[in-house]
Amino acid sequence: MAEAHTPHIAIIPSPGMGHLIPFVELAKRLVEHHLFTVTLILSGESSPSKAQRSVLNSLPSSIATVFLPPADLSDVPSTARIETRIMLTMTRSNPALRELFDSLSARKRLPAVLIVDLFGADAFDVAVEFHMSPYVFYATTANFLSFCLHLPKLDETVSCEFRYLTEPVKFPGCVPITGKDLVDPAQDRNDDAYKWLLHSAKRLREAKGVLVNSFFDLEPNAIKALQEPGPDKPPVYPIGPLVNTSSSDVNLKDESECLNWLDNQPFGSVLYISFGSGGTLTLEQFNELALGLADSEKRFIWVIRSPSGIASSSYLNPHSQTDPFTFLPLGFLDRTKEKGLVVRSWAPQIQILAHPSTCGFVTHCGWNSILESIVNGVPLIAWPLFAEQKMNALLLAEGVGAALRVLAGEDGIVRREEVVRVVKELMEGEEGKAIGNKMKELKEGLVRVLGDDGFSTKSFSELLLKWKAHQLEINQETFH
Ligand code: UDP
Repeated sequence: MAEAHTPHIAIIPSPGMGHLIPFVELAKRLVEHHLFTVTLILSGESSPSKAQRSVLNSLPSSIATVFLPPADLSDVPSTARIETRIMLTMTRSNPALRELFDSLSARKRLPAVLIVDLFGADAFDVAVEFHMSPYVFYATTANFLSFCLHLPKLDETVSCEFRYLTEPVKFPGCVPITGKDLVDPAQDRNDDAYKWLLHSAKRLREAKGVLVNSFFDLEPNAIKALQEPGPDKPPVYPIGPLVNTSSSDVNLKDESECLNWLDNQPFGSVLYISFGSGGTLTLEQFNELALGLADSEKRFIWVIRSPSGIASSSYLNPHSQTDPFTFLPLGFLDRTKEKGLVVRSWAPQIQILAHPSTCGFVTHCGWNSILESIVNGVPLIAWPLFAEQKMNALLLAEGVGAALRVLAGEDGIVRREEVVRVVKELMEGEEGKAIGNKMKELKEGLVRVLGDDGFSTKSFSELLLKWKAHQLEINQETFH
């Protein structure tokens, strides 16, 4: 229940686990460490998935949760890209959001601050109507935030598709990036998803501030450049890493099976392979990965989903509708039964990465997965699939030196020989050793930034002061 004197913050993540998880961590930090009041507002096309429900069930009771009615997307073609669907879901939830704030206002419990993610910029309109301070939480990198802030200019100055640019694009302090490694919606400027991306990027300047889930030691130059004052530039607050370190109760039986299996493996011997909350591979790619893992003869835990031609096809519902085991190559389970564990759709990632038997992570480069790996000092093999994952892979592999990146052939497929190469290099090679050392360094860095006097702690404190001051202003207007 909101008390008049404690700051009340409303936060709205867009649908999908990759946004829900860091927003929940932000909410927990605000209520548990700073005694703020938080209302977590959820929108979607349908009711929450099993994985989302599990995260929501583990919330402390001090966080109020409100589900907005499902957004109507019945007129949107089924071929629309996932980013378009998410953006429309958020924008079409505005009327319901307005009703919610009307009712909170009538009870004198209106939040002082509204925090959205990169898909939620249209909710700024509602925030302003209710005199709430609008903020954005980028649950991704400072490099990506920099790209978004520069996108309007890039859009004006480049006339071709970005993927045809012959030179890498350079943003201040960021790793130079080729057009084809840019975020998915920027690959086709005629698609609605690009128009939404550009629209959101243009609205960023209306935010009172942008929180970013990164930290100084990971992206020092990008963060420095973002914090230099400039026109049309909101203040940027690197507050990361905000990472869930506790278990959720998804699939408890499978969860304990995984951890029991890991308990019985030698120290530092197991590679964990997962493509996030919803990444999927094509059937051919799924086969090549399976055969590569078997050929490598290393120990592994592999989280599998039924193959699909669209890499993000399970993003809004991580659990496969068909049994993914039926797609494994013939004889695979027999060949690997001494060394491998295959898990359906979802595994207790946090505990796997923290387990002493784990020594590496093949990841699709979702930002939460990367941060969770850094927190546990686990070296990475970067296998990006969709969204901004290629940008993250580039940052980690070339910018930071904390990942090996898989090389796909001309046909876009990562062959089994390449799987064997990267797995062996990470687990036995010199490059693998250097990556392991870099991870240790980053882990030490994050202890520093999260310390009492650390960079991220100070950024967060600055925000808290701003939010407290705004709450005070609102209270004075409301109660006097
Ligand atoms: N996750 C998990 N078990 C799984 C797959 C994912 O617990 O089997 C969690 C993972 O720990 C992370 C989140 O789901 O916190 C995935 O977020 P990320 O940004 O890595 O990727 P996304 O799912 O958004 O593509």
